[in-house]
Amino acid sequence: MEPRWTEILKEELGEKMVHTSDVEMQDYSSNSAFRGNMPEAVVYVTNTEAVSKVLKIANLYKVPVTPRGMGTGLSGGDIPVHGGIILDMCQWPSEVIVNPEDLIVSVSPSVLTSEVHAEAERYGLMYPPDPSSSNISTIGGNLAENAGGPRGLKYGVTKDYVLGLEVVTPEGEVMRTGGSTIKNVTGIDLTKLIVGSEGILGVITSATLKLIPKPASSQTVMAAFPTMEMAGNAVSTTLTSGILPAKMEFIDKECAQAVEQYAPQGLPTNVEAIVLAELDGHPSTVKEESIALSTIMEKLGGTFVSIPHTKEEAVNMWKARKLVSPAIAVIKPTKASEDATVPRSQIPAMMASLSNIRDKYNISLVVFGHLGDGNLHPNILCDENDQEELERVEMAIEEIFNSALELGGTLSGEHGIGTMKAPFLEKELGTVGVDMMKRIKQAWDPNNIMNPGKVFFDQGQRLILSRHLEK
Ligand SMILES: Cc1cc2nc3c(=O)[nH]c(=O)nc-3n(C[C@H](O)[C@H](O)[C@H](O)COP(=O)(O)OP(=O)(O)OC[C@H]3O[C@@H](n4cnc5c(N)ncnc54)[C@H](O)[C@@H]3O)c2cc1C
Repeated sequence: MEPRWTEILKEELGEKMVHTSDVEMQDYSSNSAFRGNMPEAVVYVTNTEAVSKVLKIANLYKVPVTPRGMGTGLSGGDIPVHGGIILDMCQWPSEVIVNPEDLIVSVSPSVLTSEVHAEAERYGLMYPPDPSSSNISTIGGNLAENAGGPRGLKYGVTKDYVLGLEVVTPEGEVMRTGGSTIKNVTGIDLTKLIVGSEGILGVITSATLKLIPKPASSQTVMAAFPTMEMAGNAVSTTLTSGILPAKMEFIDKECAQAVEQYAPQGLPTNVEAIVLAELDGHPSTVKEESIALSTIMEKLGGTFVSIPHTKEEAVNMWKARKLVSPAIAVIKPTKASEDATVPRSQIPAMMASLSNIRDKYNISLVVFGHLGDGNLHPNILCDENDQEELERVEMAIEEIFNSALELGGTLSGEHGIGTMKAPFLEKELGTVGVDMMKRIKQAWDPNNIMNPGKVFFDQGQRLILSRHLEK
């Protein structure tokens, strides 16, 4: 028999919006990276009032609620730990309204990031945050994770572009934070508190985002380096030379080899690191800077240094970078994507640690990421059905986190804590830091219904890759 709360949800929202079949529950218990526990109901919401009704019922019956956008998150945030309700935000009608005079855009939570990019560009404007998943992730998910992306180097991350939010609190009340102005220092900044809170403090139902003028031109520069140290030096030297590229990405040898096997793009496969940079701005500045940047690359040992002559050539170079994820995903059935981030000066040391970890645990570990801001993506490729391998992978993941912290870095540059990194939170923040965060959570969500088991590690929960969330 179904619990009473599902009957009430159906009465309040309509039968069509509340699903409880085993097949659907199975579907929502996993995403491309994680397999977790089954929810008891999936509720489609298409407006703020519906979210408010769901949360009021959930709060009354103390039922866990897990918001879900497109399920592309890489830390397990959208997978239920304690059953309950999945709040599917993706049926919500897409709404992107640009106000070019104020350089702002209002969006509904289900809008894909790439739709915001496209709509802003129609007005000669730009929405800078550009997670590589922009075609498949929602703005609601980006806000909840404080998503970054390649352009983070010059332009920052999602939180830097959020002016105001509409949020439904765990008790079902509708609240507005911030507003539509660039400057706003009224009261405590609840907008910043919500952005990056991974769905544990409420549900984001609308956002007002800041836009900037779209740079008039851009130019890509690519170079290959025989060692990681040389690539790291090239980044530091560039950034201290007065040049600030919009993007400075890198892929390691294993990633380049994977791309060339998957869909050949002409990448060199015998070098340790390929650096791909993009400059943007006024055409004459971009031209000068691209020459200066390639000179720096060459002086510091870069080979295959190239400046594409056409837009198409540049697009192809970036396509190679975008192909890394799908290319490595076919190597083994399971992919654990990390985003340990270190101060830029520690990139070579972190790469050396990753190499040691690869050998020590005999695992398939490849690395790519946002080199310019120290945000590395070590990806471990394994088979979740191979218990022995999985145990080695879990130990390797723990060691990756430890290495990043020892080098003055952080557990996550952009993917969030979710379930994956929850057991390690205290190592980075200390007991007082975690305790203060827990107190905020307790004040916002006294019944702990919003996305429980995420960010804070629950008793009995185990570090998971893609298997069981509870023992
Ligand atoms: C190929 C690939 C490339 C990627 N590249 C990047 C990258 O460059 N940079 C980057 O930062 N990330 C990247 N990601 C990770 C992921 O795409 C982002 O974290 C994205 O923001 C998740 O959006 P989503 O709609 O899929 O959210 P989901 O995965 O569905 O949810 C993510 C979290 O947000 C919560 N949530 C979702 N919607 C709401 C809402 N409306 N209100 C409150 N909470 C909500 C969920 O509960 C969950 O905790 C990548 C992922 C893939 C698969």
